[in-house]
Amino acid sequence: MTPPSRLALVPFVSVAHMMGLVHHIGLEAMLRDLAGEIEADFRRWPLFDKTPRVASHSEVGVIELMPTSDGEMYGFKYVNGHPKNTREGLQTVTAFGLLADVHTGYPVLLTEMTILTALRTAAMSALAAKYLAPKGAKTMAMIGNGAQSEFQCMAFKAICGIGTVRLYDIDPAATAKCARNLAGSGLKVVSCASGQEAMEGAEIITTCTADKQNATILTDNMVGAGVHINAIGGDCPGKTELHADILRRSDIFVEYPPQTRIEGEIQQLDDDHPVIELWQVMTGDAPGRTGDRQITLFDSVGFAIEDFSALRYVHSRIKGTPFYTELDMLADPDDPRDLFGMVQRAKS
Ligand code: NAD
Repeated sequence: MTPPSRLALVPFVSVAHMMGLVHHIGLEAMLRDLAGEIEADFRRWPLFDKTPRVASHSEVGVIELMPTSDGEMYGFKYVNGHPKNTREGLQTVTAFGLLADVHTGYPVLLTEMTILTALRTAAMSALAAKYLAPKGAKTMAMIGNGAQSEFQCMAFKAICGIGTVRLYDIDPAATAKCARNLAGSGLKVVSCASGQEAMEGAEIITTCTADKQNATILTDNMVGAGVHINAIGGDCPGKTELHADILRRSDIFVEYPPQTRIEGEIQQLDDDHPVIELWQVMTGDAPGRTGDRQITLFDSVGFAIEDFSALRYVHSRIKGTPFYTELDMLADPDDPRDLFGMVQRAKS
């Protein structure tokens, strides 16, 4: 049998490879790199194909496809969200993704994206906070201490200079796990007994809980003037974290409004409630933080362009490393029209 041509072999980054790549580059360096890649892509926002992600909902969760293209490359991510999974020993969020060359349609990368999603989500959060959080912010409340939480804390350290994180989760075991994992990270870690306690002295509040309901992780009276809220966990219809009154007091920044209006905290507001697109803050076309008493809210749901940036980054960084294998996943006969003949010859 003729071996597959080089073009037909698709680099594949497994979970083990991704972990190797993280350690090879360094976690904080990788978070900063990813934030840089996302910022570069947000600055050329109008170039991209954009659509709200395609969601398939069930009673217990959601499975989503997130495609986009800049005209040169095309990428998509498959991702699920199943809050009940942790009780069964499974991840709430898992993902994989693919990058392809628009000129041939051939994939150039297939990769795990469970770890990469945690990294890119954290990088995106910290990037947004770079523009929106009070200057000189040093303390962050981290509410919800599950799979995403340490990545969030480390990104805020690496990108925003946060020095203290105040942890809270309804499950003390999750807080203990998070505190243990962050020991030796250079962050001062304070474990708290309530959300209110976690927010004491915090200039930034990150909510990253998982519950398939309109939860009220923050009530209006808990949120003082001047803070930045990084709301990660409300990312599906009927799955929110903040009381609507907080939204009415905040300036709300979003990724892609047509998707966020379906999935974000703002699903609780009227369809024409004003929001600011983050990419415009980055290009200087819209203001970010304008005052000391302003409450800024990043209503994060996760948008396809962030995954595209992450896929581009991994594709560029694996060259010359041992952190991938090649998959024979594209049928590519020597004579492109002789697909059938190739199958027949395989019999021998
Ligand atoms: P996880 O299940 O590992 O962790 C969630 C944690 O929230 C758990 O430890 C749970 O005990 C805690 N929790 C639930 N209700 C709480 C409450 N009322 N108060 C305090 N803590 C509470 O999930 P994860 O992988 O860390 O993801 C967290 C959330 O982030 C999910 O909802 C997920 O869908 C979302 N997410 C968003 C993005 C994005 O781009 N915006 C990306 C990835 C994940």
